Amino acid sequence: MKHSFSWLTPKAQKSRTVHGFGIFAKQNIKKAEKIIVFGGYVMNNHQFDNLSLQLKHLPFQIDENLYFGLYKISEMEPADFLNHSCDPNCGFFGEITVVALRNINKGEEICIDYATCSDNYRSLTKDMQNCLCGAKNCRKKISTQDWKKKSIQKKYRGFFQPFLEKKIKRKS
Ligand SMILES: [Zn+2]
Repeated sequence: MKHSFSWLTPKAQKSRTVHGFGIFAKQNIKKAEKIIVFGGYVMNNHQFDNLSLQLKHLPFQIDENLYFGLYKISEMEPADFLNHSCDPNCGFFGEITVVALRNINKGEEICIDYATCSDNYRSLTKDMQNCLCGAKNCRKKISTQDWKKKSIQKKYRGFFQPFLEKKIKRKS
């Protein structure tokens, strides 16, 4: 069996979208089910800054100055094609696990809100900040400070990266 970094539920797969690739449910998935367990490399700011432009799109933030990503495009696996939506069906549960926030129907794209894993410019590069997710409540512009919005905090409480969860707790 081929070794892999990440685990993606067999109930989902990588497929082509209008914008590139995404992950889609192959069958119905129940609320709270585990969708992805990410593997990869833990990077500090310096290591992140040395990534190629293409690889800079990949990492998500797991602490103030730590990111989780890959060093080669060839290391990308289906789980790495997880896209953003302003009305996502998934969120983080701990640093590396993504779970379903609600029941997901076969054919739906699996998405998270980048607000749950982004607090500085490294984790959300400029060209990713115009949102075309198409959700009714699309913010159009997504920012690294979206986690500070009360409505966002309420929506994803318990499903942010733990370091953001802690920051929210301190502020409220
Ligand atoms: Zn959007």
